Amino acid sequence: MNIHEYQAKELLRSYGVPVPDGRVAHNVDNAATAAEELGGERWVVKAQIHAGGRGKGGGVKVASSIDEVRQYTNQMIGAQLVTPQTGAEGRLVQRVLVEQASNIEKEYYLGMVIDRASQRITVIASASGGMNIEEVAKETPERVIREAVDPAVGLMGFQCRKIAAKIGLRGKQIGEASKLMLALYRAFRDKDALLVEINPLAETGDGALIAVDAKISFDGNALYRHQDITELRDFDEEDSKEVEATGHGLNYIALDGNVGCIVNGAGLAMATMDAISFHKGKPANFLDVGGGASPEKVGNAFRIVLQDPNVKIILVNIFAGINRCDWIAEGLVQAMRDLEINVPIVVRLAGTNVELGAPILEQSGFPFIMADNLDDAATRVMTTLEASS
Ligand code: GDP
Ligand code: MN
Repeated sequence: MNIHEYQAKELLRSYGVPVPDGRVAHNVDNAATAAEELGGERWVVKAQIHAGGRGKGGGVKVASSIDEVRQYTNQMIGAQLVTPQTGAEGRLVQRVLVEQASNIEKEYYLGMVIDRASQRITVIASASGGMNIEEVAKETPERVIREAVDPAVGLMGFQCRKIAAKIGLRGKQIGEASKLMLALYRAFRDKDALLVEINPLAETGDGALIAVDAKISFDGNALYRHQDITELRDFDEEDSKEVEATGHGLNYIALDGNVGCIVNGAGLAMATMDAISFHKGKPANFLDVGGGASPEKVGNAFRIVLQDPNVKIILVNIFAGINRCDWIAEGLVQAMRDLEINVPIVVRLAGTNVELGAPILEQSGFPFIMADNLDDAATRVMTTLEASS
C-alpha cells in the first residue's frame, strides 16, 4: 500500500527525520493561507499523487509570492498530472502540499528496501540523487551504494557512518546523516514498510540535511497490525476493481490483457496466468477467489472481472480440495442467470465432486466451454479468441 508524500513526511517527522515545514491544501485559498502561515519568501507547491516523476511533469513548482502559490495550485488541482510514472492518462490531482522552499545545494539519494535475494532490509544511497536517479542507477551503477542490515542487530551506527562517508558527506554531516538513517530504519521496521525513499535528500546552504521528498510503500499483508497506516489509504489512487474485490474478500490485481481469470488459490492463479502466457495470450487480471468460494463469491468475481472493458473471454479454473465442484458449478450457473455475460467462458473443473459439478454446467443450457486440464483450457481460450476475432 502506498501513501502520499505529505503523509510520509508526517510519519517520518514523528521519527525524527528532518523534513520541511508544510501544509496540505485542497483548494487555492487553503494553499495561500498555508503559505502565509508558513512564512518565508519562497514556497514549493507539490501535487499529491501516488506516482513519482512529478518534477518532470510540472507537479513541483517553486513560488516566489503568495500569488504564485495560488497560480500553481490552481494549475494543479483538478488537472490530470502526467509524469514518466503515470502513463499517458495521468492522475487526477486532488490536493497539493505547500512547503517552505528549501535552499538546495546538493541532492543525495537515500532509500531502504527489502532485498528479496538476501532477505534483508538494504540501505541504498547515492551522491547523485534527484530527478535522474533511475538513469544514474542504469548507466553508472557504481555510483549507487548498498548496505544490507542484519536483522538480528538492526542497522548499526558504523554502517551509517560508512554509507555517509561513501556518498561524500563530511564532518558533522556524518553524525547527522547517521541519526537520519537510524530514524528512517526505525520507521521502516516499526511500520512493516517494503520501501522508503528520500529523493532528494537535500544538503541546504548551511550544510544541513533535509528530506525534500518522501515515498513509503507498506506491506499490505501486515496492515492488520497498523490501524494508523491503514487509515492513510487513499482509495482514489487505487484501481476501483481492486478496492471492491478487497471488500468481498477476493484477491484481485488488474492487468492489461484480455483474458479474464477466475481461479481458486493464489498458486493456481499464477499457474493459470503462466499457461495463458505460454499460449501467447494475455491475462486481464489475477484473481484468487480463495478456498471457500461460495456462489456469492463466484458471482462477485464475475462482476469485478466483467467491469474491465478489455475482457474478451473468461477462464474459470477450479481445483477443488476443501471446496466442492458442484457448489462452484451452481455459483457459475447462478452468475450466468444474474449477470449479463456476453463473453465466452472456458471452465476447467477438477477435484472434489467434479463428477457432480460437470453435469450441472453441461445441463444448464449455458454455452460453457469445458476443458479437461489447464493446458487444454488455455488452448481453448486461444482458439475461441481467434475464432471470434
Ligand atoms: P518528484 O519529481 O515526484 O520526485 O518530486 P520531488 O519532490 O523529488 O521534486 C522534484 C525536484 O524539485 C527535486 O529534485 C528538487 O530539485 C526540486 N525541489 C523540490 N522541492 C524543492 C525545494 O524546496 N527547493 C528547491 N530549490 N527545489 C525543490
Ligand atoms: Mn523525488
